[in-house]
Amino acid sequence: MITCRDLISFLDRYLDDELSKAERDVFSDHLRDCRCCLNYLEKYRTTIRLEKRCCPCSDTIPDEVPESLVNAILKAREAGK
Ligand SMILES: [Zn+2]
Repeated sequence: MITCRDLISFLDRYLDDELSKAERDVFSDHLRDCRCCLNYLEKYRTTIRLEKRCCPCSDTIPDEVPESLVNAILKAREAGK
């Protein structure tokens, strides 16, 4: 049996689907018995969903930001001073 702390350290890999079958079983066993971690997991998932909703294009940002955009941001910053 793993502790709650162990479970939290597995959480990212669990959500990324990177756990082995055995690890996943241990994880699910704990979640079944531990409401606390279940709540935490749900909150964690919601947080991730909300972050994605706030920034739907985060996966498609080009490597190079156009210079005109950089200049526009810099100008906006100057104006805000
Ligand atoms: Zn727990």
